[in-house]
Amino acid sequence: MPSQPENCLFCRLVTAGDHVRTADGFVAIRDINPIAETHLLVLPERHVDTFRDIDAFPDEEAGRMLRFVADTASAAGLDDYKVLVNVGEGGGQTVFHLHWHVLGGRFDSGKLARVLELETA
Ligand code: AMP
Ligand code: ZN
Repeated sequence: MPSQPENCLFCRLVTAGDHVRTADGFVAIRDINPIAETHLLVLPERHVDTFRDIDAFPDEEAGRMLRFVADTASAAGLDDYKVLVNVGEGGGQTVFHLHWHVLGGRFDSGKLARVLELETA
């Protein structure tokens, strides 16, 4: 369900959250319900509902966003990690402000299976 910026949790966290790092119009925060030892979220400061709307970013800004994701992982001490974007309700997106999950270290396999909607015995 698309949200308006004035009602958007992540718009509030962009202005008032506990930021791991911030630069260039992007912020990184810790996920409140981590599924891995390191679980960060990268958010653009300006509200865009979902990755499907990537055209809202000029190429230069989209490029800087990717670099910020990589730099956030590096700053967290991660060499090997996963980057995940859930797109739309059917893709598991629950907060409709575009964000990139940066996941590293040991995973909580049960939570990961739920996120990826894998069958569990
Ligand atoms: P997604 O399911 O891809 O939309 O991811 C939303 C993520 O936001 C989930 O991993 C939640 O744990 C996380 N989340 C929800 N509320 C907060 C919050 N207040 N602070 C940090 N992360 C949050
Ligand atoms: Zn927002």
